[in-house]
Amino acid sequence: MVEGKILKVSGPLVIAEGMREANMFDVVRVGEKKLIGEIIEMHGDRASIQVYEETAGIGRGDRVVSTGEPLSVELGPGLITSIYDGIQRPLETLREKYGANIIKGIDEPALDRSRRWHFVPTVAFNQEVKGGDILGTVEESEVLTHKIMVAPGKQGRIIEIHEGDFRVNERVGKLKLEDGSIEEITLMQKWPVRKSRPYTQKLPPVEPMISGQRVIDALFPIAKGGTACVPGPFGSGKTVVQHQLAKWSDVDLVVYIGCGERGNEMTDVLREFPELIDPRTGKSLMMRTVLIANTSDMPVAAREASVYTGITIAEYYRDMGYSVAVIADSTSRWAEALREMSGRLEEMPGEEGYPAYLTSRLAQFYERAGKVVCLGSDGREGALSAIGAVSPQGGDISEPVTQATLRIVKVFWGLDASLAYRRHFPAINWLNSYSLYRDRLASWFGEKVSKSWNDKTARLLKILQVESDLQEIVKLVGMDALSADDRLMLEVAQSIREDFLQQNAFEEDDSYTSLGKQDALISLIFSFEDKARRAVEAGADIEKIAALSVRERIGRAKSVPEAEYARVFAEIDREISDQLDALTAKS
Ligand code: ADP
Repeated sequence: MVEGKILKVSGPLVIAEGMREANMFDVVRVGEKKLIGEIIEMHGDRASIQVYEETAGIGRGDRVVSTGEPLSVELGPGLITSIYDGIQRPLETLREKYGANIIKGIDEPALDRSRRWHFVPTVAFNQEVKGGDILGTVEESEVLTHKIMVAPGKQGRIIEIHEGDFRVNERVGKLKLEDGSIEEITLMQKWPVRKSRPYTQKLPPVEPMISGQRVIDALFPIAKGGTACVPGPFGSGKTVVQHQLAKWSDVDLVVYIGCGERGNEMTDVLREFPELIDPRTGKSLMMRTVLIANTSDMPVAAREASVYTGITIAEYYRDMGYSVAVIADSTSRWAEALREMSGRLEEMPGEEGYPAYLTSRLAQFYERAGKVVCLGSDGREGALSAIGAVSPQGGDISEPVTQATLRIVKVFWGLDASLAYRRHFPAINWLNSYSLYRDRLASWFGEKVSKSWNDKTARLLKILQVESDLQEIVKLVGMDALSADDRLMLEVAQSIREDFLQQNAFEEDDSYTSLGKQDALISLIFSFEDKARRAVEAGADIEKIAALSVRERIGRAKSVPEAEYARVFAEIDREISDQLDALTAKS
């Protein structure tokens, strides 16, 4: 055990001497209160320690003891529905035991040691197993089966295994390792958060993570195992987008990391999430959620740890063969924690005071996403998708955190204050947003949704771009200068924006749209365009076409319930033909 003494305290940074034998990233306990910290720099016998608790009251000469272990998380049944802080302390349990204020230096295990879980083995006595192999299952929540796996790197033979009700740290069996030593099997394992969990092979992401959000699925889709960022100024709808993704995405588990946006915002998430209902199961959304919350009374440094804690938990469920989404809100606050620490370490500042390693740290986070063949002999596949919100000051996306993030992630959903101001929600700007997965996902959409999906969604994007060019012309020379064809183009673009892209998160039948209904809705808009174009050619007046009553029905189509859209859309389509035919006959 290495023990040193404090030389200096500067906010969350503590410098200690006498630490020569300690290791980088060791967890240390600081002062009489045993505050939890982590060594982030070593110079000779001096260690720079990032302390995750308020350092008021500790000072020069106080003891610093290294635990000799890196910052790790506990992985096992009980993670789901839990609310943790950045270093995986169970906030609910702490609140029950100690009240609202977190007491310093508390050792409360992350996984409840009193609760028993029913374990059903899936391996037999004498069976050879290796890292990643599934030993058995536990029904962790009403919607998720927890797979108990052999820890990575281990290999051996089962010499004991039992079905029954166990606490997470009780022995459920024994493993005889290759070297002859015997190890107890428990329902939990530990993993250092800064190290990504191993897998057998990374696979190209070829399947979309379906969100039911039309602008995302149709125009800027994210793959299962992909990365995305949502930058947006205050009030542009970041929180709603993230909640919609957490709520509707077709993943098995969501890990939501709240890096403490504004003081009380995290408490909003803490209050709201447990009340949200998972639309697929009708159960609380918490049954497939792990929340990591940096509450406002925790020092900034804890935000730094929280993203690693969150993504490690996500990797663990990916390893079981699940599709997991990590949503980090907001990575800007995390980057600010890095900046503050870097400043105190007196490192050479980069752009706007952020450390030069900002990009590499962000990359280390997003690189842990991916679709993989998991460890274990059954070859199961898992996926981890990572979505980070960015909150650039004043919405200026040229600032360092947004720019660094954009170099890494493959999808950019740019929220736009002016769209939000016009109440166009989700306020994702279709002109500057992008998805680099569109090509990769094309065959999936072509096969599973419709042959024409890819052409149609490309056509949507094209029309929206043409609209923006035409609007420039209109500004210069007025609407009258446009041909009837171009006028029609503007009408169709408006219909795409209002009848397809705009989606009300708070309206029951609009909040989520299946891919089938999205496809049909696009077809309906294009059916109008194609028929209207023929009518224009036949001499029909564009003003009259624009004023047809069927256009209102197209506008309400998105709110038609899933069970009825096929019938209702066919009806609307007939009405489009009838009204346009009538108009053409008159002209
Ligand atoms: P931010 O987190 O960026 O500050 P919010 O997510 O809180 O912004 O959104 C601000 C407001 O915008 C919400 O309270 C809501 O009224 C409106 N809003 C955002 N997205 C939608 C949506 N998809 N449907 C309807 N209203 C929305």
